Amino acid sequence: MAKTARKRRTEPSLRRIELKNLWSIYSEKDTKSVFAFAEDYKKFISSCKTERESYVYFSEMSKKSGWEFFGKAGKGTKKVLIGNRDRALAVVYLGKKGIENGFRLVGAHIDAPRLDLKQKPFFEDSNIALMKTHYYGGIKKYQWVSRPLAIHGIAVLENGKKVKIEMGEDDNDPVFVIPDLLPHLAKNVQYTKTLPDIITGEQLNVIAGQKEVRNEKSKAKLVEFLLGLLNKKYGIKEEDFVSADLEIVPADKARDAGFDRTFVGAYGQDDRICGYTAWKAVEGLKEQPDYTSIAFLIDKEEIGSDGPTGAQSSWLLDIIVKLLAFTGRKNDFAQINDVLSRSEAISADVNAAVNPMFKEVHEINNAAISGYGVVLTKFTGSGGKYSTNEATAEFTARIRGIFNKARVHWQFAELGKIDEGGGGTIAKYLSKWGMNTIDCGPGLLGMHSPYEVVSKADLWETFRAYRAFFENK
Ligand code: MN
Ligand code: MN
Repeated sequence: MAKTARKRRTEPSLRRIELKNLWSIYSEKDTKSVFAFAEDYKKFISSCKTERESYVYFSEMSKKSGWEFFGKAGKGTKKVLIGNRDRALAVVYLGKKGIENGFRLVGAHIDAPRLDLKQKPFFEDSNIALMKTHYYGGIKKYQWVSRPLAIHGIAVLENGKKVKIEMGEDDNDPVFVIPDLLPHLAKNVQYTKTLPDIITGEQLNVIAGQKEVRNEKSKAKLVEFLLGLLNKKYGIKEEDFVSADLEIVPADKARDAGFDRTFVGAYGQDDRICGYTAWKAVEGLKEQPDYTSIAFLIDKEEIGSDGPTGAQSSWLLDIIVKLLAFTGRKNDFAQINDVLSRSEAISADVNAAVNPMFKEVHEINNAAISGYGVVLTKFTGSGGKYSTNEATAEFTARIRGIFNKARVHWQFAELGKIDEGGGGTIAKYLSKWGMNTIDCGPGLLGMHSPYEVVSKADLWETFRAYRAFFENK
């Protein structure tokens, strides 16, 4: 039994929001937990650079903790995985209360901005064999030149066989480079242009090789040599690239950043940081939750959530139908609607932490500060709150209450100054089904760049926030 506490003097009516540098309030034990959590996270974010790789990671790791894929899971199983085309995954922990009482969902996207290989990528110019790319998501193109890149993905043969291709990650692997223009000759071609045109989409061509086929009258000797090499190594031919998902991503590994190691630098943290913390929150639940808890790991957010693996698809309904049937419930239209209206969702996505070098894009009272904790965002969108889910005051109060009760360190922020720009998340696609939904995730520095930075404190508090949401009764 706890010692009777002396009655605390509180003046709630006058207490203003006070944010603190979390490193100044963490105990030694807290700090240890934060750093240990970041070590595992770095391993994940270094090794999972595509949605497919994240899918494999989350499903394999879940299986180790007792999860089974729907279809294989026996009656009475509480831990069920539902997959969608190897690119999106629902990690479901069935609650003590039946699913008809609604579920708790934390939805994060596991795709990230990158360069996709074009379907006919090969050409040669100036005695160099090159591969053409088509950028995916919102990138600043100039950030992708003159840096080591790796290739990740699969080519699917006519017979359906999948050939995995990964090159550029091992220290002994070659990397891929898009060479920038030297400053000496950039005066007219680059310095006179505005930033989006300094490097164009069609200039994002990756060096692939130089050896050529000998004793042949072929016009494309370099490309032919390259195709021979790829055929020998992977057993694929030129046409197989038409049916391939090959992604060019930064070859860097996640590293600690700063003398005191308080930050993590890594590619693809938007939004795999939320994917990881959402998954970790479900996977780590000590006991069966009251409400069915779902880590909803979705694809295609960076290009508008379209397609069958994106949040605009009806896949969520399919999940509910399956879960209702699996637990022996009716799964008619009325029931599905009922489940949705009783459910609650966190749209788990990153926000923009204030970058000290570009403070003017924020309104500081309503901006995310790195190291102050997970960020609660009532709405995203742009202009006069266009194209967004705005969480109701009631639901925002409920989530704030859950976080405060669990002593989660959180802050409130909008995405930048009014009319400065804007952006969206899957929140509006989750809420369109009738679920109360709110945006919540860590603030990043250098978001959408090849090397995004996060405070380990914010990483930790994000995990704690999602866990508190799932554990709430
Ligand atoms: Mn995102
Ligand atoms: Mn993004």
